[in-house]
Amino acid sequence: MTVPTAAAAAECRDILTRLGVPASVWSSDGFEARSPIDGSVAGRVAETPDLDVVADRATAAFHQWKRLPAPRRGELVRLLGEELRASKDDLARLVTLEAGKIVSEGLGEVQEMIDICDFAVGLSRQIYGLTIASERPGHHMRETWQPLGPVLVISAFNFPVAVWAWNACLALVCGDPVIWKPSEKTPLTALATQAVLDRAIARFGEAPEGLAQLVIGGREAGEALAADPRIPLVSATGSTRMGRAVAQTVAARLGRSLLELGGNNAMIVTPSADLDMAVRAIAFSAVGTCGQRCTTLRRLLVHESIADALIARLKAAYETLPVGDPRGDGVLIGPLIDEAAGAAFDDALMQAEAEGGEVVVGGTRGAEGPGVYVRPAIVRMPAQTAVVQHETFAPILYVLTWSDFDEAVAMQNAVPQGLSSCVFTDSVREAEAFLSAWGSDCGIANVNIGPSGAEIGGAFGGEKDTGGGRESGSDAWKAYMRRQTQTVNFSRELPLAQGVKFEV
Ligand code: NAD
Repeated sequence: MTVPTAAAAAECRDILTRLGVPASVWSSDGFEARSPIDGSVAGRVAETPDLDVVADRATAAFHQWKRLPAPRRGELVRLLGEELRASKDDLARLVTLEAGKIVSEGLGEVQEMIDICDFAVGLSRQIYGLTIASERPGHHMRETWQPLGPVLVISAFNFPVAVWAWNACLALVCGDPVIWKPSEKTPLTALATQAVLDRAIARFGEAPEGLAQLVIGGREAGEALAADPRIPLVSATGSTRMGRAVAQTVAARLGRSLLELGGNNAMIVTPSADLDMAVRAIAFSAVGTCGQRCTTLRRLLVHESIADALIARLKAAYETLPVGDPRGDGVLIGPLIDEAAGAAFDDALMQAEAEGGEVVVGGTRGAEGPGVYVRPAIVRMPAQTAVVQHETFAPILYVLTWSDFDEAVAMQNAVPQGLSSCVFTDSVREAEAFLSAWGSDCGIANVNIGPSGAEIGGAFGGEKDTGGGRESGSDAWKAYMRRQTQTVNFSRELPLAQGVKFEV
């Protein structure tokens, strides 16, 4: 493992200044902004003092914003895309410094923001409804999509900026103001993104005050905003524990929630699979982002006839994985976000061994020092025990074997979460069965592709404990709008539906 070099925090402050974040964000008593690379602290960031004012401003902004034509709203998002392109390197570097992602993943995250801007700009001219045949003469019916109101975006540390963009770009073209409560572990990337957005807003010229607000705060701030009836939609990304709490709060006031929660993603490897491809896909999806993606591969379900050979190849690949300062050339695995994540990694490995697991490779910590660096682990398990059922947000891959394909699909589905899944096979029968109604029960199902690294064009999200929400592409935009069925009578009669007679 390579040891961190230059203090990450100092670099953070330089980038923030370059991106135009005002010095007034620093405070002596706010949230500590630290880099997981070396634990260095960039400073403390002031918490947003008055959430009531935030909700009021968003409500006022809604009344103006919804009156602008959607293609005009799309122009703001187009400008945001331009500003993001101009700031891509700095913002990506900040993602690396604050979330610990390797350089290409930091750049990839900002590219994802740019891609969703492009998608949303196109969408701003394609917010279609329906026309519906009316049973009444001289009437027409249609279904229209109207702006919904302020949208609260609660985001997790591991995609500190892309998740905001997925939500905000769609919400803005749909006519909704956005309130963003980022993870308390990544306030700097949020402040930087807000500065980039503010530049786009200044160029746009007619955005109401309060259209896109950033709330710096912890869990309590998220709880308070989720309870606010002025916010019709809460889009929350994070742990299942958080999603359960948010869902109940929002449901209690009959609001709408869009939940993107934890995953426990599996790959089924069949005897006909191309093992060269499978090994590469497994390595990227199991250890990329140090196992801290919602779509990280956590369960490898291998046919018993090829398990020993595949595990031997993975063991060899894992032994040479470059772990270290994510800014370093050739490094593929950066740090875990904090010591609590390191403790969860250690605890899960101990529990796995207690439940009959055998650590094949990895599982150790880096040398003492700042930053939590671990060697990704592969653990052979006798069954899908309690530890396998649980999402540990760290690079641990559990390997299990099967003898019958239907049994493998049943194993893939037999966990509480339902985000991403995949099969490696050259059999069209197995591939199609995996994608059928009795196949994978997840929101994402892939063939000969790992579970991680989705494109923005598809709807993203999962079932069961993953929360059921869909974001990003396809028709995910409908969650950010209010559906209205409209009937117009252009005749001189007043016929009632279902033949009802009511003469007065
Ligand atoms: P977390 O649940 O600890 O925090 C996420 C966010 O929720 C933070 O902003 C936090 O302040 C806020 N929060 C926590 N409790 C809250 C409450 N009761 N009410 C309102 N807000 C609350 O998650 P994390 O550790 O930052 O992120 C890791 C988790 O996120 C993993 O489980 C991962 O799978 C999941 N995740 C899911 C997706 C997805 O699209 N499905 C994407 C990224 C991350």
